Amino acid sequence: MDEAAATVRDCIAVLESVYPSSWAEGWDAVGLVVGNLDAQVGSVLFAVDPTPEVAAEAARGAGLLVTHHPLFLRGVHGVAETSPGGRVVATLVRAGAALFTAHTNADVAAPGVSDALATALGLRDVLPLEVEHAAEPIPTADAPTMCRGLGRIGQLPAPEPLGEFCARVARALPATAGGVRATGPADAPVHRVAVCGGAGGELAGAARAAGADVLVTADGRHHHVLDAVSAHPIAVVDVAHWASEWPWLEQAAARLTAGLAARGRTVSTAVSTLVTDPWRLHVPSH
Ligand SMILES: [Zn+2]
Repeated sequence: MDEAAATVRDCIAVLESVYPSSWAEGWDAVGLVVGNLDAQVGSVLFAVDPTPEVAAEAARGAGLLVTHHPLFLRGVHGVAETSPGGRVVATLVRAGAALFTAHTNADVAAPGVSDALATALGLRDVLPLEVEHAAEPIPTADAPTMCRGLGRIGQLPAPEPLGEFCARVARALPATAGGVRATGPADAPVHRVAVCGGAGGELAGAARAAGADVLVTADGRHHHVLDAVSAHPIAVVDVAHWASEWPWLEQAAARLTAGLAARGRTVSTAVSTLVTDPWRLHVPSH
């Protein structure tokens, strides 16, 4: 065996150090889903969703697939290839590839999912929106991760109108059929920006309390957003859930590479560009 070759166990040790499973919500299902800890890993594929298409991509040479969303959240009685989840398991097992997921534990980590979104949008002086674990120890060089809660707030280099800001968001994130929607108006000035990767519409109040002009998040619900913008002078910018979390993949890949290097191990990494946003067609109504 190659001295520098990494195993699934090595990769998980690094991923657990930066996204500890203990930080995941009680209802979540994170960690190793498929795979052998002693299997050698030459390359690792990162993706938001463990869909059959993503599993097929991983099966073309990756020893480990790391996804943000869990494969199974509820009890499973079988993994027959009659279900999408069963097909994912079978595809990965046949290819000798492992699957590891880091979900709400990667949301609250710092840096985590919302830090990656903030960086993609060019925000400066980024701080946590809601500190859930204030007693966390100061990060060290070996484990430079903290648990900082959901959402981040930061500043644009200079104020810009909401319409222009939405164009910035559209440029920063991968293309999706739905694009970028906002509550408007287009000329509202935007300087302080709150972000929450994934469904973070409930953070509008906290975002406004922290001084945000706008909250960028996904899956905004009708009543939630309507109430939020009536109650608070804040705009909500809604993007595809997949797109809001996609910037995290590159960050996670870099952290795995760095953590393995510190242990004298090497892998190659790749970020999947398969669009797993389920919305594929958008026709503006008139
Ligand atoms: Zn998500």
